[in-house]
Amino acid sequence: MRNAELVARDLKAVWHPCTQMKDHESLPLIPIKRGDGVWLEDFEGNRFIDAVSSWWVNLFGHANPRINAAIQEQIGQLEHVILAGFSHEPVVRLSEQLVEVTPPGLDKCFYADNGSSAIEAALKMSYHYWKNHGKPEKKNFVNLSNSYHGETLGALALGDVALYKDTYQPLLMEVITAPSPDAYNKEEGETDEAYALRQFEAMEQILAERHNEICAVVVEPLIQCAGHMRMHHPIYHTKLREACDRYGVHLIADEIAVGFGRTGTLFACEQADITPDFMCLSKGLTAGYLPLSVVLTSNKVYDAFYDDYETMRAFLHSHSYTGNPIGCAVALATLDIFRTDQVIENNRRLSACMAESVAHLADHPNVGDIRQHGMTLAIEMVKDKASKTAFPWQERRGLRVYQHALTRQALLRPLGNVVYFMPPYVITEEQIRHLAQVASEGIDIAVRD
Ligand SMILES: *Cc1c(COP(=O)(O)O)cnc(C)c1O
Repeated sequence: MRNAELVARDLKAVWHPCTQMKDHESLPLIPIKRGDGVWLEDFEGNRFIDAVSSWWVNLFGHANPRINAAIQEQIGQLEHVILAGFSHEPVVRLSEQLVEVTPPGLDKCFYADNGSSAIEAALKMSYHYWKNHGKPEKKNFVNLSNSYHGETLGALALGDVALYKDTYQPLLMEVITAPSPDAYNKEEGETDEAYALRQFEAMEQILAERHNEICAVVVEPLIQCAGHMRMHHPIYHTKLREACDRYGVHLIADEIAVGFGRTGTLFACEQADITPDFMCLSKGLTAGYLPLSVVLTSNKVYDAFYDDYETMRAFLHSHSYTGNPIGCAVALATLDIFRTDQVIENNRRLSACMAESVAHLADHPNVGDIRQHGMTLAIEMVKDKASKTAFPWQERRGLRVYQHALTRQALLRPLGNVVYFMPPYVITEEQIRHLAQVASEGIDIAVRD
């Protein structure tokens, strides 16, 4: 079979995510036949380095032998069982291990099957916690500008990316938005840390004035990924944790994208030295294999729901595939690879290589910023370097980088004008240098007029 045949059938029957389908009148859809490590291969033998980890999920390459084996073994035993009233070994072992590797004080694991669903569960749990404590008036959430927490209505309400949110605004609950510590907006000569502290003042004020009506603050620690890979200093979260404690407000850390090593530590919260009240994980949890998500919380939160049935304090929330055993087996294999292969340590070398490989772009007249936290590196294309004036979004300059990269064996998928690398951890230094070369060429082409 050739690419064209499958594409024709695809366009008759499939509606693709996050896509204006009319784009495919001119932009070729790429059907993938197989994956192997960082490589994706189409039906005509064209190969692409998956520089975006297939939307930030893949950690250890496609068709990873150890994860494949874990799935095979689990399928032979048990594919799925209801998790209410019943249990199974993978979910018990995974919960024990997640409690072990996450920041101290996260004691209980509640499962769902995608990131947005984990956010929804955390929002409901936080509200319900305060209700069980006789404070039903605490029913508002605080988010940060430029944040993203998923696409279901509750998660979308918590987000602040206009592209995804504006159309549905009339359907969404209201939230209180504090300004982001996004270091891209700092003043000339100001440090990321000083800017984060300055931005925190508005958060402090919101909490001081309105904590009686607030359940929780929801944040993406260190990187606002869908918000154009904008990054900030961890001090913001250290301050936020302290303030949330002072005002009696929960802290929900959305580590769905940044968890599992993307920022250089296993979890981003480690860099702020904090434990959130709720931590949401998905994406890398299953290394790019299967949908699974989890909300970790404390025994203190758990205990607020623990009572006789008739009191109606229980968390009566579920999804059909909650805690799926195959997903849990994959997550266990993922954690095993982190341990045995000393992934976090080895990634330091790859992170340094990523930084070096794009260092020359700092002087590029259309590069406004190069930023990095660990295994995530972003390059912001600008129309004017001095004023950081953005290219109008309608020009779709990032798309030109994407199209160029495809001709050079790379899947780079910019977010607007931001070209970024978030590769699987099995990438080599040589492949990183290739991506940097392709990105440089792509930016040169994209900024031309
Ligand atoms: C991807 C993402 C989500 C939503 O996860 P889905 O599995 O796509 O629903 C939530 N928060 C962040 C930070 C994400 O990157």
